[in-house]
Order: sequence, then C-alpha cells, then structure tokens
Amino acid sequence: MPFESLGLSSEILRAVSDSGYDKPTPIQEKAIPYILMGRDVLGVAQTGTGKTAGFTLPMIDILSSGRGRARMPRSLILEPTRELAAQVADNFEKYGKYTKLSMALLIGGESMRDQQAALTRGVDVLIATPGRLLDLIDRGQILLADTKLLVIDEADRMLDMGFIPDVERIVSLLPKIRQTLFFSATMAAEIKRLSDAFLINPKEVSVSRPATTADTVTQRYVRTEQEAKFKRAMLRDILTDEAATMKSALIFCNRKRDVGIVARSLLRHNYDVEPLHGDMVQSARMDALRRFKKGEIKMLVCSDVAARGLDIPDVSHVFNYDTPHNAEDYVHRIGRTGRAGRAGKSFTLVSPQDKKSLTAIQKLIGQTIEEAKPGKPGKADAPKRAADGEVAANPPADEKIEKAAAPENKAENEIETKAETKTVEKAGKDDRKTRRPRRRKSGDEQHAQDLSNGTTEDAAEATNDVIAKPSKPQARAARGTERRRRREPAQEQPANNNSPFGEHTPAFMLRPVPLAANG
Ligand code: AMP
Repeated sequence: MPFESLGLSSEILRAVSDSGYDKPTPIQEKAIPYILMGRDVLGVAQTGTGKTAGFTLPMIDILSSGRGRARMPRSLILEPTRELAAQVADNFEKYGKYTKLSMALLIGGESMRDQQAALTRGVDVLIATPGRLLDLIDRGQILLADTKLLVIDEADRMLDMGFIPDVERIVSLLPKIRQTLFFSATMAAEIKRLSDAFLINPKEVSVSRPATTADTVTQRYVRTEQEAKFKRAMLRDILTDEAATMKSALIFCNRKRDVGIVARSLLRHNYDVEPLHGDMVQSARMDALRRFKKGEIKMLVCSDVAARGLDIPDVSHVFNYDTPHNAEDYVHRIGRTGRAGRAGKSFTLVSPQDKKSLTAIQKLIGQTIEEAKPGKPGKADAPKRAADGEVAANPPADEKIEKAAAPENKAENEIETKAETKTVEKAGKDDRKTRRPRRRKSGDEQHAQDLSNGTTEDAAEATNDVIAKPSKPQARAARGTERRRRREPAQEQPANNNSPFGEHTPAFMLRPVPLAANG
C-alpha cells in the first residue's frame, strides 16, 4: 500500500517523501487510517517498527486546523524518558515542516524558560515526561481542559519506571471526550487494565508478537566467568573479532556503576567510547547521544533506562556486557540493531550465574541462541589466577579503576530502577526550588574529581588488599563461625544462680571474660 492511500494531506506526504520513505510500515498502514477517523487506538508495537511516525503523521493532519490557546495544549504526548520525548519532537519537526504546528517539549533537566514561553503563546502539541508535566500543572502553568488528543507511548516502560500513578493523575485532568492513542511493546495484565481504563472502543493494531527479535539480527552468546575483569577481557576479545564489520555499537550493562567502569576500561584500551546512563546530567546525555548519532563516537556503554527506545539507525552491533535479568530488556536491547531491515549482530556475555536468565530469554524469544567462541577468549590480557582461585597480584590497571569506583555512593551499584529514574526526573524540581543543584555526582564526574584530587590511585591502593581477601565460601564460613561465636556464650552459659536477675540474667552479664575476672 502506498502512503497516498492512507488519507494523509499533501503537505505531510511531501515531508514523508523528503524523508525518503516509499511505503508505510505495517503499524503505519494499520493505525493511520483509524487515527484519522478519530478512533482510539491500542497499538502493540515495539520501537523500530515506525510507530512514532504512525501517530505523528495523522496527528499533524488532525491538528492542522485550529489553534492552541495560551497554556492549554491541544494535544499531549507522554513519553517515559527525555530522550524519547526529544525524539518525538524531532519527528514533529521533520514531518510537520510544511505545516504551521506549534510544539513544546517539557522534559526534566532542561531550562524551562523557552518552553514556558511557548506554552504561554499556546501550543498544538505538548510532548512531556510525566514528572515535569505534573510539576507545571501543580504550579498552575498548564491546563489540560482543552487537550482532546492524548498519546501514551511506551506504556510498558512507564509501568517499569513507576510512572503509572502520575499518568493516571494526568489522564484524570483531561476531558473525558477525547481521542486516545496508547502504545506498548507488550500487553501485560497491568497494561491491559490501563488501556481498558483510558480507551473507548479502541481499534487494536499489533505488528509483531510481543517480545520477538528481528530476523535481521544474528544473536550469539559467549560464555564468560562472572568476575568483572574476565568479562571486560572477553568483551575486548569480541570487539577485536568484530572490528572489521562493526560500524557502531551499544554495550549494555545492568548497573549504572558498571557503565562507568566498562567505559573507562575501554577508553584505557584506546576504544572510541562514551558512557550513557541515567545519573549523567541531561546535557551530557544528549551530547553523548548526538555525537554517537553523528558517528563521532563509535561505541556507547549504556544502561537500559538511558537507552530504551532510542532511534539510532546505524547500530551494527549490540553487546550485552551483562545478561539482562529481565528477558524483555533483552528484546529491547537487541532491538537497537537490525532496524528498518538492516543486518545487525548481538553478543551476550553469559556467566555461570546467568544461565537461568539465558534460558528465560530463549523461552521468551522462542529461539535458541547459538554460542560463539571468540578467537582467544580473554587470553590476551586476562589476569592470572592463583591455584586456590584467588586473584593474583598486580591486577591490571583498569581493575584499579573499578576498585577506585567502589566507594562511590552505594546506590550507584543498584540496578537502574523506577525510583532512580524518578529521582532524575524530579531533580529539576529540587534544583529550581533550592537554586542550588544538589545532583549526585555521576561515576565519571566522581572519577574526574578523584583524578584531580589525586585520590583515585590512593583509593585503588587502599583497596589493593583484594589479594588477601577470602574467597566467597571462605567468607561465608567465617561469617557463620562469627555468628555462632556471638550466639553461643549466651546460650550455653549455665544460669548464674548468684545473679540478682536469677534465670533472667541479661546476656551481657554472662560474658565469659568478665565473669572469670570477677571470680
Ligand atoms: P520508531 O519505531 O518510531 O522508533 O521508528 C524506527 C525507524 O523507522 C526510524 O528511524 C524512522 O525514521 C524509520 N521509519 C519510520 N517510518 C518509516 C517508513 N515508512 N519507511 C522506512 N523507515 C521508516
């Protein structure tokens, strides 16, 4: 079916043809005619399917007649992350260039002055993340009483990030009679409940089975040991093997802290790489992304939250430095490559502890991932191990980086979750209230400061006692002995009948040493 038969206006068709698209993608073909009819749409589609144009193209048409009133946007698009919101704004600019729609983008971490000025003039399209939008609503800067077209994009991601209560509140402020477009990559029970609550008689369009990976991606897994330095060595081995065909790559870590560590380690080995995670300031995130898209950086080491849904057309490789715990995250990560029919490759490092996660992933995607055996796995620079399994002396320099990073804020070590994302989202609020940014330092900034203070090496040295550290089973046994040692005196000491407390003598009075001394 050609674009011309979808019912879009000639201005939009011109912009589409300028973009170089010759025919609509399946989600566009299925959704656009119903959106133009004014129907609610429930779209089950992943990023990479062309779903953004699937709603922006008909919206531009619908909104082309009429004008937004001051502080009363005519349409609202809710996105879970700032990057996705910015990407949707880019789409409006690209496809709306022959129309006169006005737009505002409300995302945390950016100055609001320009956006507020746009809102005051009146906008046709407001693109926002839930936290920042509620902030402005609460301050009386936005009224949603005139918002008759609502898009909730990446609903499953909103759920993961804990935004659903915010979304529910926002929706309650919109008129009941409106058109709602609701997109989600998956249709979990909670997502179904929400769509039932928000949509009226929706047209359901689904473009691929939930949680499938594109056929254009060659997926492989690589066995590795759990220890970070072996994983980093293995990653470098794969990168070496793939160097000839690799145009650009995303390397995913499960933890934000590891994003910084892996990026610094690769930098030290002269790779062209930058980190991207949710604790970085917005301008640094946008800058890294922009340079990556322009091909100025070859690799980004990133966390799931930072990278979800990003439209980066030329990613040739995805590396899972960590096997994702959540099988659906695997599908989203792999979805960064093999987009729009291009070929892509993915490699997942799997340690013995990750076997269950690999099984869950294979079950979800309904296929077996083949094992790859990179050239000389980790031999080139893998540290030697002592016979008893302890790490040998002289750890490689990037291990020092890892150890130096260890004393960082403990939360850094936690998987990036809804709460953290919300913190970032809300950070803008706090900044504004106090006028003194109290943002937590990112790993990189901390590292940079450490370097300038000369503390990195000190910290590394202070923690160099890793050589003497007991192995895990030894440590567990020692903890057990310690626990027993603490328990036993109180339990096994015979009751002291001379004590004024009788049988109820407090345990501290029964400690063997003082009693012996007194006796
Ligand atoms: P999305 O699923 O919205 O993230 O879009 C994925 C990619 O598909 C983006 O790079 C779009 O520019 C591209 N795209 C959107 N519509 C089409 C189309 N009709 N033909 C080819 N590519 C498209």
